[in-house]
Amino acid sequence: MNCSNINIVFNTCAKIDRSLRQKLSSIWYKSYVLGDRTRYFHSSRTICQTQKDDVEVLLSPQEVTVILRKNEFNKDFSHGSVKSYDSNQLQSNDPIEDTRCEAQCKMTPGLLMGVFDGHGGPACAQVVSKRLFKYIAAALLPQELLENYIKQEPRELLIDTFNDRAEIVQDLKFIYDKSFNEYLSKLSNTAKDEIDVKVCLEKSIMHLDEDLSREVVEPFKENGNVNHKTLSVALSGAVACVSYIDGPHLYIANVGDCNAVVGTMTEDNEWVARKITKEHNTENFDELKRIWNEHPDEERKTVIRRDRLLGELAPLRSLGDCRYKWKAEILSEVAVPLIGQKAIPANYYTPPYLTAKPDVYYHRLTPKDKFLIIASDGLWDMMTPLQSVKLVGEHMKGKVFFNPLQLPKKNIQLGDINELLLHRKESLKSKPKDRNAATHLIRHAIGGTEYGIDHSRLAHLLSLSSDVSRMFRDDMTVTIVYFDSEFLRQCPA
Ligand code: MG
Repeated sequence: MNCSNINIVFNTCAKIDRSLRQKLSSIWYKSYVLGDRTRYFHSSRTICQTQKDDVEVLLSPQEVTVILRKNEFNKDFSHGSVKSYDSNQLQSNDPIEDTRCEAQCKMTPGLLMGVFDGHGGPACAQVVSKRLFKYIAAALLPQELLENYIKQEPRELLIDTFNDRAEIVQDLKFIYDKSFNEYLSKLSNTAKDEIDVKVCLEKSIMHLDEDLSREVVEPFKENGNVNHKTLSVALSGAVACVSYIDGPHLYIANVGDCNAVVGTMTEDNEWVARKITKEHNTENFDELKRIWNEHPDEERKTVIRRDRLLGELAPLRSLGDCRYKWKAEILSEVAVPLIGQKAIPANYYTPPYLTAKPDVYYHRLTPKDKFLIIASDGLWDMMTPLQSVKLVGEHMKGKVFFNPLQLPKKNIQLGDINELLLHRKESLKSKPKDRNAATHLIRHAIGGTEYGIDHSRLAHLLSLSSDVSRMFRDDMTVTIVYFDSEFLRQCPA
């Protein structure tokens, strides 16, 4: 393991609390407004040029837009309860530690959408986003289909991913294929009368997490070898929020502190935010009680310290993070020789301290449910669920103006066309800047003030180098899934 990997694996403790980050963000902004910008302003010269007199030049609105739209993705669907989705990511860490994945199950119906927020480096989040949906899709196969699938040579695709730009390196691919085959035979040996989606989601997440650990420990026990790649995946961590949508059925599996929110329109045309998930962090008292109950009373003061698990980890559930799961002997044998004694957290007496067990929620979609927002804490640090729902709601109304004017009927009178054009001209004032609603949310999360978007705030926050930027904001990943109200209206109750 090289030095950069060691740093990547152990930068968890440096992650700054969200309240502090918000405070820093406003202090920094005030400092800048007051003219004291030397303290925090260390902009990257590649983005923010310095003139001869050393006055910083703001990014132009066009440059800001290029940065904000760099990772946009959207897709339309021709049938089913999901009409389309918009997604985007904005990095703060370098490399970005958030990942995302969206896919259609191929052998069964259903769409999977996930946001994964890594810590201690991007390795675990990247691997989880590449592997998890296959585990889920396999678990959702009825017994007969599963048996057929296992026998196929070559096998058809279990999922069709939409925005998959990364490839796993070949040696890891070999290890992961072996684990997946073992997982398939375990699935086929566990007789199931019918598919319970909640159970499938939970088991596949737990199973993948066990595989991340086993892929390090098993070869070590067999021949004393430690694969540094699988180790860096197992020692870094990721929280995950995954939705599975099949017709009117919405399931959300959540591990950690991402969140999923449904935007619903009431009878009175008011937007309501239905927060589906509950974060696994120290603000969730049920989680604190769970952890205290799982360890002896003597550890009550050490198991949660400074609002973190063992004083180190902010999310109280996650995938990977084997430093909080393995026995101390395994850590001493596998991790300490490479990364030193700090591999074992202080007060590490009764592991495991951490689980990847998700909370799985079910919501029956109605025609009033217009969209689902899944996002990493980078977004939720900056805005409430209701603010985000209202912004997406307004965006929905305004985005019709991105399309060219369509005349409602043939043989329309000139006077009517004139009226239509006047109305459109007036309404164009509410046309959003970004067609992609995820970008719209990110733009408001960073540049939003009570008077609207503040360009200079946006420009400055986007100019910061990553080591400074991560003090003010986290990586942000946002996926917005739009539902087809007409389809949902016709779904039998
Ligand atoms: Mg985050």
